[in-house]
Amino acid sequence: MPKLVFHAKDPEYFPNDIPNIVNGLQQIGFLGNKWQSPESVLGERYLIGGSFLSLVTFMGCAPAIELSPLEAQPDSLGFCHIEIETLKPKVEFIRGSEHLVSRCPHCRKRHANWEKIPDTLLYSCDGCAVVSHLSEYDWKNTAGCGRFFISLHGIYPQEALPTSNLLQALEKISDVEWGYFYIQ
Ligand SMILES: [Zn+2]
Repeated sequence: MPKLVFHAKDPEYFPNDIPNIVNGLQQIGFLGNKWQSPESVLGERYLIGGSFLSLVTFMGCAPAIELSPLEAQPDSLGFCHIEIETLKPKVEFIRGSEHLVSRCPHCRKRHANWEKIPDTLLYSCDGCAVVSHLSEYDWKNTAGCGRFFISLHGIYPQEALPTSNLLQALEKISDVEWGYFYIQ
């Protein structure tokens, strides 16, 4: 399933207290209750909260998006819900698309040749020769780096956008700035 993934702009960031983040996101109505999912469904997953539709802007006039678990398929992940992803032991680069597009943070040269991502996550731009961490590149919402991710499942690229209110609330709850990308 496609998803919209939130990540802290500082790739090293991870919360010391994940329940505190969950609690904050429940208070603003982004997250609802924990999904009482069948055992076959892994992960820490939450239903959408009461203010979800004012914190996320759906594009198009009538999105055919399921907002609650499917009665006929109780173990289906094919509905809009939020997963608090397991903390990664080190910073990872998450590719959201086959066709990544990015710009060098130093000279703004466009780079589209990302078949192979360097293990070090450091990249030397052939336009300006400056070595930058991949988290500093502008990926145009096609990829992101980090250790801690919050995923909104069931959203196709560009189908929905987080509002600035939601991104500001995330920042207030965590004390760091957030970005997002889509995984197709
Ligand atoms: Zn450059």
